[in-house]
Amino acid sequence: MSTTPQPSSPAADAAKPSAEQLPCLNPATGQIITSLDVANDADIDAMVNAARQAAPSWSALSIQRRSELLVRARDIMLDRRDELLDLMISETGKPRSDATIDLLNLSETISYYTSNGPRLLADRHVSTRLLRNKRIKVQYMPRGLITNISPWNYPLDLAWSPLIPALLAGNVVINKPSEVTPLISLKFLEILREAGLPTGVAQVAIGFGAVGAALIERSDFVCFTGSVATGRKVGVACAQRLIPCTLELGGKDPAIVLADADVERTAHGLVFGAFFNSGQTCVSIERVYVVEDVYEELIDAVVRHTRSLRQGIDENFSVDVGSMIFPNQLKIVDEHVQDAVDKGARVRTGGRQNPDFPDGHFYEPTILTGVTHDMKIMTEETFGPVLPIMKVRDAQEALTHANNSPYGLNASVWTQDQARGRALARRLESGNVCINDCMINYLAVEAPFGGVKNSGIGRRKGEAEIRKYCHEKTVLEDIFGLGREPVWFPYSPQVGQGLDKAMGLLYRTGLGNKIKELLG
Ligand code: NAD
Repeated sequence: MSTTPQPSSPAADAAKPSAEQLPCLNPATGQIITSLDVANDADIDAMVNAARQAAPSWSALSIQRRSELLVRARDIMLDRRDELLDLMISETGKPRSDATIDLLNLSETISYYTSNGPRLLADRHVSTRLLRNKRIKVQYMPRGLITNISPWNYPLDLAWSPLIPALLAGNVVINKPSEVTPLISLKFLEILREAGLPTGVAQVAIGFGAVGAALIERSDFVCFTGSVATGRKVGVACAQRLIPCTLELGGKDPAIVLADADVERTAHGLVFGAFFNSGQTCVSIERVYVVEDVYEELIDAVVRHTRSLRQGIDENFSVDVGSMIFPNQLKIVDEHVQDAVDKGARVRTGGRQNPDFPDGHFYEPTILTGVTHDMKIMTEETFGPVLPIMKVRDAQEALTHANNSPYGLNASVWTQDQARGRALARRLESGNVCINDCMINYLAVEAPFGGVKNSGIGRRKGEAEIRKYCHEKTVLEDIFGLGREPVWFPYSPQVGQGLDKAMGLLYRTGLGNKIKELLG
């Protein structure tokens, strides 16, 4: 039995019992690209067994060796990037630039963790105040099998970037890509194998939610990126098994525009933040609060820039906005826009499916004004190319609206007064904030990324990500080798009174800190 489901061929199908099929579609044209076998329970067991068998020798390799193999995979990916971009575009309908950024994210992740992993996972000496006669080190022990369950919107980066630090740390890994975009994940798996990763160390499980659920039952850590509804189920399933997880969920990212904002830069930024990847980005700008003094001028600029966007199927970096992923996503966008219009919003541009592409899922980049918090477009994740803009009196009103949300992933503040921008950033209930910018923080692999409230639990990226895939193991060594430690049995009044005095000295007089300072 194959541990990696492959595109089915007629010859292969004749030789084995028929599996449930997953058709892979091009959303821009509606054409079927290929069809894959969905993993059944026996396939998943076989994958998990292969992973467990591969684990001891993979974790026994030096981190330098594991780094070499991953760097080789990155280089093969970069050599073959045209092939990968073509595949990703056919699976998602993205413009080529959007797909390039997805590939860049994975390249950057590999470069950062392979360069810094050896330092981040080196044994760490811990100096203590109390136990001066002991040597204490923290070691990083791989957790075992890490499963990453990923969505369709960045199908290469989100399938593999979380698994790069996991692999480097000595874990074995399985990706369960979205059922909508499995092909690019399989392609990177092929590259990992070509780079020399042993069988079983990295695998891809093809299928729907049930495959993700089955993997959670068999894994030691789960990294999940997707919707709040599914994230909640994943969190519960992990809690039942007492395994840790990271949940990267949805957002309703606010932008606050103050009266002193640079209008042209802000308008360009809002249009990019709202329509990049057809608005199908967890950190898309999904609602804007503009202080009244600059409202009309900003609307004019935003509408002008939106109308100049080129929508279509991309050949060579010449399209700005592509297709959406599938009909249901288009339906949500349409519902949110209709709900807003029914409640009094005004469509300034767009507001409908693009009639030039009847076979794809193209929704015109849309600007709405006259919006309120009674409308879904201002409160629920839309995940499409719509930018609703609301006029507010001042920064305080904007902040109150921005924080009035169950989400808290990314946010942005637009002002030429840096100090004011920083002060507002501090008061925003959000995992990430950009000042006079948007989204780009996601490319900073060195910095933690994640949400507050319903936008998620835990963080990705940054120094902590590679360590979270390890158990921190504290190893204490005795230094002096006395025949018996003073606090061991038998207890005596002298030792008891000595401890009592020591507590007074340590905690009431500050002597403990002075001793630590002196001893270093
Ligand atoms: P989704 O929740 O529908 O699916 C995500 C993955 O979960 C898929 O692979 C799916 O097959 C799997 N799945 C479904 N049911 C499952 C179950 N019961 N157990 C285990 N796995 C299961 O999300 P989607 O539509 O693919 O992605 C869009 C969502 O992802 C949006 O809400 C977006 O905001 C979010 N997202 C968040 C981030 C972030 O970093 N915070 C990044 C990208 C996307």
